[in-house]
Amino acid sequence: MEIVKAELIGFCMGVRRAVELAYKVIEDYKGSKIYTLGPIIHNPSVVEELRGKGVNVLDSDFSVLDSDSVVIIRAHGVAPDELAQIEASGATVIDATCPRVLRSKQIVEANVASGKSVVLVGDKDHGEVKAVSGHSDKVVVLDPHLDYSVALDVKVPVVLVAQTTIKHDEFYKVYEFLKQEYSDVEIVDTICPSTEKRQEALLDLIGKVDAVVVIGGKNSANTRRLAMTVEDSGLPVFYIETEDELSSDILNYNRVGIAAGASTPDNVIDSVVCRLVDIGGCYE
Ligand code: SF4
Repeated sequence: MEIVKAELIGFCMGVRRAVELAYKVIEDYKGSKIYTLGPIIHNPSVVEELRGKGVNVLDSDFSVLDSDSVVIIRAHGVAPDELAQIEASGATVIDATCPRVLRSKQIVEANVASGKSVVLVGDKDHGEVKAVSGHSDKVVVLDPHLDYSVALDVKVPVVLVAQTTIKHDEFYKVYEFLKQEYSDVEIVDTICPSTEKRQEALLDLIGKVDAVVVIGGKNSANTRRLAMTVEDSGLPVFYIETEDELSSDILNYNRVGIAAGASTPDNVIDSVVCRLVDIGGCYE
């Protein structure tokens, strides 16, 4: 069995930056109660490693915070109402919001301020979408997987923006629909190139292998999309979080591709490759 890695794999810029910042906070704020607002990234092994170093995950219960607390905002950003509650507690806020998410937020804010209707294409429950849209009830969130052809009622001019991790074809499908319905629709492409490049690298990989192992958190949207892309291609996909989940069925394939989401650490990818080599894989 030959092992072939995708050309682009593992942490994206925003995730790497957030994780590095978390480790810096551990050094800089010894003795403080350190939290990340939600899991720092969608990867259980990283979250557990940080927990072992005293960094806990803060859920919606902000009553645990006080002036000895430090709260790290993850790459997805934070909804304004949550930020206000954290700041009111006296906690120190360390902002690891990805610059690309900040850009989306600024675009949304500027267009809302100029009186335009903003439609944000994405998952309304995703942290980034809440962070980007949360400052205004004038932002309409449209899930590209639901039937958006009903009950959309916005005034022109309309500005269309995207969650950074959705697929281009999903985004442009919504654009085509809105253009039929509204006379003045402007599209601002806020999809992160990292996500797109990862998809392109995966498509390239799919053409070279018989099956693909996709490594990443089951709660990671961009990893799930990678797995869906493999499924759509018709190739078998082994979607795993760690090497322990690897099924022996993988031995049925001659060329096995490795892909990983933007929140998958290098050491987890390396462990999967090592396990494949242990069971007879060949990797150069
Ligand atoms: S996928 Fe893109 S937008 Fe999201 S954290 Fe990574 S670099 Fe930032």
